[in-house]
Amino acid sequence: MNHCPCGSGQAYQACCEPLHQGQAASSAEALMRSRYSAFVQQRSDYLLSSWHVSTRPGSLPLDDDTHWLGLTVERHQQQGDSAEVCFVARFHAQGRYQQLWECSRFVREQGHWFYVDGDARWQSWQPGRNDACPCGSGNKFKRCCAG
Ligand SMILES: [Zn+2]
Ligand SMILES: [Zn+2]
Repeated sequence: MNHCPCGSGQAYQACCEPLHQGQAASSAEALMRSRYSAFVQQRSDYLLSSWHVSTRPGSLPLDDDTHWLGLTVERHQQQGDSAEVCFVARFHAQGRYQQLWECSRFVREQGHWFYVDGDARWQSWQPGRNDACPCGSGNKFKRCCAG
């Protein structure tokens, strides 16, 4: 099985791929997961098209050096056509392990969710080699995504 990069435990074909192909996300959390997968797969077109036009940047250069390690969704709250999703994304970049904490805001227009903006902070992070890998594989970090 081709595991979805978002760490849902589902196959990519049953999770984020349909969204990347244009299907409407069923929730802001699903959209947020598909955007994380798009970062992993460097799909800047998808990141821009799922970004609300009011805050969308003109272009989105993605950094080849960023290696995404895993996503944990902490909270998802929806009220009508707006929603907030808080998550932790872990990655390795510039020789350091880091984690991004973000609460992102989303709006729904004509049945499609869009990312608006978020409050983010970055911290360095030191994974234990015997810890469960943040990618969700169930393997120890040292046997999975380390190095
Ligand atoms: Zn997914
Ligand atoms: Zn892993």
